Amino acid sequence: MINDLPGHLANMRAYFREGHTRSYAFRKQQLLALKKAIETQEQAIYDALYQDLRKSPEESWVTENGFLLSELNHTLKWLKAWMEPQHKPTNLLNLPSSSRVESEPLGVVLIIAPWNYPLQLLLTPLVGAIAAGNCVVLKPSEFAPATAALMQSIIEQTFPPEYICCIPGDGATVIPAMMEHYTFDHVLYTGSTAVGRIIYKMAAEKLVPVTLELGGKSPCVVEADANIQVAANRITVTKFSNAGQMCIAPDYILVHRSVKDKLVSAIRQKIEAFFSTDPQQSYEYGKIINAKQFNRLRNYLSQGTVLHGGNSQEETLYIEPCLLEVTDLQAPVMTEEIFGPVLPIIAYDSMEQAMEIIQRNPNPLAFYLFTGSTKKERAWLDQVPAGAACINNASWHATNHHLPFGGRGFSGSGRYHGKYSFDTFSHQKAVLKTPTWFDPAMKYPPFKGKLWLFKWFIR
Ligand code: NAD
Repeated sequence: MINDLPGHLANMRAYFREGHTRSYAFRKQQLLALKKAIETQEQAIYDALYQDLRKSPEESWVTENGFLLSELNHTLKWLKAWMEPQHKPTNLLNLPSSSRVESEPLGVVLIIAPWNYPLQLLLTPLVGAIAAGNCVVLKPSEFAPATAALMQSIIEQTFPPEYICCIPGDGATVIPAMMEHYTFDHVLYTGSTAVGRIIYKMAAEKLVPVTLELGGKSPCVVEADANIQVAANRITVTKFSNAGQMCIAPDYILVHRSVKDKLVSAIRQKIEAFFSTDPQQSYEYGKIINAKQFNRLRNYLSQGTVLHGGNSQEETLYIEPCLLEVTDLQAPVMTEEIFGPVLPIIAYDSMEQAMEIIQRNPNPLAFYLFTGSTKKERAWLDQVPAGAACINNASWHATNHHLPFGGRGFSGSGRYHGKYSFDTFSHQKAVLKTPTWFDPAMKYPPFKGKLWLFKWFIR
């Protein structure tokens, strides 16, 4: 428990300046300590995630603790190579100097996480921040209290507080208290676009660089030539994982009219196959995080024709997976990010018509396309600017730590995961080293009459 926050943050800055975090040996040791803590606390992690979101251990492994361990292992494997200076060519003007880029730690960084993957979204960025040699303040979400408490205890038991600390509590109070009185060297925020805007403004006041991992409406297009059974499998498993509370879940489906009925019937079957005819009792199916989100989601159910599911129970924060046929594109279910188990489906006749719908919410966090045609794949990828894309898949790009993860425009700025995290939490410092044995007079005044020479060297 930290009482004197300004004093504590000043201690972190001093700890960073003393250089403890810089060596490869130190960074590796801290990553190994984090790995050990996550492995030791495995059961406690499952218990907390079940309490907050009713996640099963299997789902947790894929999307939370196993996901994190995979990122840790990848980083441990490559960290030494990432830390090496990158040698660069030197231009004629600067010869015989040598040039390199060094990855320099930023300093004291702030990582702010949301409630939907309350472990993974807090600790995956932490891996990159440790790897890059920083001190870190972690802010878990108050809306996943069991996991937030566990995160705090893991951090307190694993790291000295002047190196890494965890500050829980109400974001609207705690975060301004930190950001207004202290200049962080970087902020990585994951959460809603509305709060992202607040964070961006606070950071701008002090010219603090930010990475914003925000939300949005990720469209999922199913073309007439798609493999419908496979599309239904992959859309259903991701959309209803974590009860739809996933930033990169397919937000809505645009299906070619010729295959709409086939797709609807396939998704219905998959929902029953994956979550049974009574998903409320299913081991595989989660709950809505709180009453506020439950009520927001339940309102969507009346904004279209329910084709499947949609039963709900407030006491248990349960909303059954729901397939909703939507015709009113002005309805909130089509203008707001859904972030829950409601899946609108809209039939389209032409690419232009589908594009008109997608462009109402530009720059989504992800774009999903199901098609058998590489020509269509190229056309759609060229048409839809998005943070990421999957062809014949949905959401799994996030689990490949070789790919950058991030949005664009309203869905965010910057990227992380794997080497991209290391780069996000490092400054790429350009270094030019010049020998003293060669010091030609042409580089010094008087310059008069040397224009022809400069024109020869600088071109
Ligand atoms: P949230 O309410 O937990 O908020 C996120 C963080 O912001 C929390 O730590 C909270 O304490 C803090 N916060 C809340 N209000 C604040 C304020 N006024 N000032 C400063 N900080 C404040 O989570 P959320 O925003 O409801 O999360 C859901 C959203 O996050 C969705 O839009 C989703 O798409 C997005 N998301 C994005 C990603 C991604 O990787 N791009 C991942 C998960 C979730």
